Amino acid sequence: MKRLPLLFFAPIVFLATASAQLDDSSKELAHDIFKQLIEINTTDSVGNVTTASEAMARRFRDAGFPENDIYIGGPNDRKKNLVVRLHGSAKLKPVLLIGHLDVVEARREDWTTDPFQFVEKDGYFYGRGTQDMKDEDAIMVATMIRFKEEGFVPDRDVILALTADEEGGNSNGVDWLLKNKRDLVNAELVLNADDLTVWSEHGKVLEVDVVASEKIYSDYELLVTDSGGHSSIPKPQNPIYELSQALIRLQQYKFPVELSDVTRAYYEQRAQSETGQRAADIRGLLSNPPDQAAVDRLSRDVIDNATLRTTCVATRLNAGHANNALPQRAEAIVNCRILPGHTKVETRETLMRAIADPAVAVHYVSNAFNSSDTPPSTPVFTPQPLRSDVLDSVKKVSQQMWPGVPVIPTMAEGASDGIYTSAAGIPTYLVAGVGIDRSDDREHGRDERVGVQSFYRGLEFWYQFLKTFAGRE
Ligand SMILES: [Zn+2]
Repeated sequence: MKRLPLLFFAPIVFLATASAQLDDSSKELAHDIFKQLIEINTTDSVGNVTTASEAMARRFRDAGFPENDIYIGGPNDRKKNLVVRLHGSAKLKPVLLIGHLDVVEARREDWTTDPFQFVEKDGYFYGRGTQDMKDEDAIMVATMIRFKEEGFVPDRDVILALTADEEGGNSNGVDWLLKNKRDLVNAELVLNADDLTVWSEHGKVLEVDVVASEKIYSDYELLVTDSGGHSSIPKPQNPIYELSQALIRLQQYKFPVELSDVTRAYYEQRAQSETGQRAADIRGLLSNPPDQAAVDRLSRDVIDNATLRTTCVATRLNAGHANNALPQRAEAIVNCRILPGHTKVETRETLMRAIADPAVAVHYVSNAFNSSDTPPSTPVFTPQPLRSDVLDSVKKVSQQMWPGVPVIPTMAEGASDGIYTSAAGIPTYLVAGVGIDRSDDREHGRDERVGVQSFYRGLEFWYQFLKTFAGRE
């Protein structure tokens, strides 16, 4: 919260009234789709993405989309993706919208409500996926259906792909579609709604981001093994102690600070809107060479820290096999988010240097059950220009909906499906419409929720934004 710009602007009344009001039937449709998606469990463990794809396909069919423009397919029965096309006049090349249907695991006992029930309470919708990202999925589906019902013909085809396995599993839907159904998803650019980009405080929107760069996701396993023995006769070497020391060294290690074109543009914008010490620190960061004390102060903010450098953090731990035995094995999973331009190989070497203990093996992990010494061949986010048509459309609609709020180009700290489309040579931008308070980011967490009004404002945003970006009738 403290990092948000304090904005002082005179209310410009004539600008604030420009956006069209949502009618009740559009809201009801989006609400019903949202509820339906939340209540279809799409976790990797016991859920089924195909059920969600089929439910959405049925809605498109009922809205009059021809069978030829609806595709369902994937590598197995549980992980089928949906692709739907709204035809435009072909004046411009198609735009592809992507959203993942799968959600992170959620345990009933951790939550106040059932994570797979859509619960409206105290002005919020609760359920797994309400922030990440069934809210945006529901909005995109409802918007496509609304366009169809209105007979809207955009200047370009609008393709929507709802996909599997962004959060987990081995059947990433975007990757699969690019490899197996490229003709269906080929586009001039991709808009991915999988991020929180509209930031509010107490429901009041203060900032809109457009994500034009992403970090690379990579997991590593730290492993220490030993012959073990009886716990009544301890010996000096113990995998649990060894691993613990390695993790403490990792905790203390900081990757170097680095700015890219996108993050530099981000901080240049920030320098104008921030005040006091923070504004001074940002100027210190941007100066050549950077002011180290300013960089250190900025790095205490978790978001700035993740923006300025590669981060690696311990996320899982497992050791020992019996209460009365010396451990034979201790392992930890370390999750890294690597700055664009750096590789998984390089990051592994840095981890090994930071840990500085040859007894701790560092392996690549391609999923939770599979580690190796060869780097997984996964794509990286290709640096790309910030398209002015994308930025201008977001600015135009933001100005109507949230007058005076800055629109800021950023880098995403968590890698998304955009790495696949970007690596396939299709420029990819993250744009979303649902506002979330910075202090209420509950993605992947318990009691995930989204404000009822934020959801409907997001619906309005997408309708206006796509009309602006995809062209007029
Ligand atoms: Zn997501």
